[in-house]
Amino acid sequence: MVAARELMLASRNAGKRRELEPVFAELGWTLLSLDALNIASPEETAFSFLENALLKARHAAERCQQWVLAEDSGLSVPSLGGAPGVYSARYAGDDALDQENNELLLQRMRHLTGAQREAYFVCVMVLLRGPEDPDPRFARGVWQGKIAEEAKGAGGFGYDPVFLPYAMGERSAAELSLKEKQDCSHRAQALRKLLSEIQQDAA
Ligand code: IMP
Repeated sequence: MVAARELMLASRNAGKRRELEPVFAELGWTLLSLDALNIASPEETAFSFLENALLKARHAAERCQQWVLAEDSGLSVPSLGGAPGVYSARYAGDDALDQENNELLLQRMRHLTGAQREAYFVCVMVLLRGPEDPDPRFARGVWQGKIAEEAKGAGGFGYDPVFLPYAMGERSAAELSLKEKQDCSHRAQALRKLLSEIQQDAA
């Protein structure tokens, strides 16, 4: 365990926080919340995960005096030209519910079979050590699988009920325990890559 430290998580997504918080707690870090400082989320106007992650990190860092961890993530289906991609959270429209996004995806893929149902999650994570940090730290994680014919499972968030990760039988990501998802997800992989840098920088 290292000494307790604080990091602002530049996200209001409860699912992401649920996955990240225990990992940081184990290492003696507290993940602060945008809500506590009343910081609004910025519009995600960029065309790439990388740019959106940096945009979210910069926005939060300019408004608080903490180190900031931000991430942008989403689902990419190659046979749909990479959609929903950076629009994953709002695939079925601004403020769309997870269930509405899932239903639209299943509907758009109803005629696709076999390899056409392959998909992957991407997560790009950024650490900014202040608003003018000239050397942000980045990490990327990818989780491969395919899209199910129908939603199943009650865990996780977002597209988890329709995503069948490889090497998990026919279980959806929403049927995995938090521990199982932590072992292989895109977010967990990006975090593992970034963690050693975070700890080194804080030493
Ligand atoms: P954003 O990064 O806040 O723009 O939104 C990412 C969106 O991608 C989420 O709202 C979900 O729809 C989707 N997503 C990202 N990671 C996951 C995951 O681990 N499981 C399911 N859906 C995810």
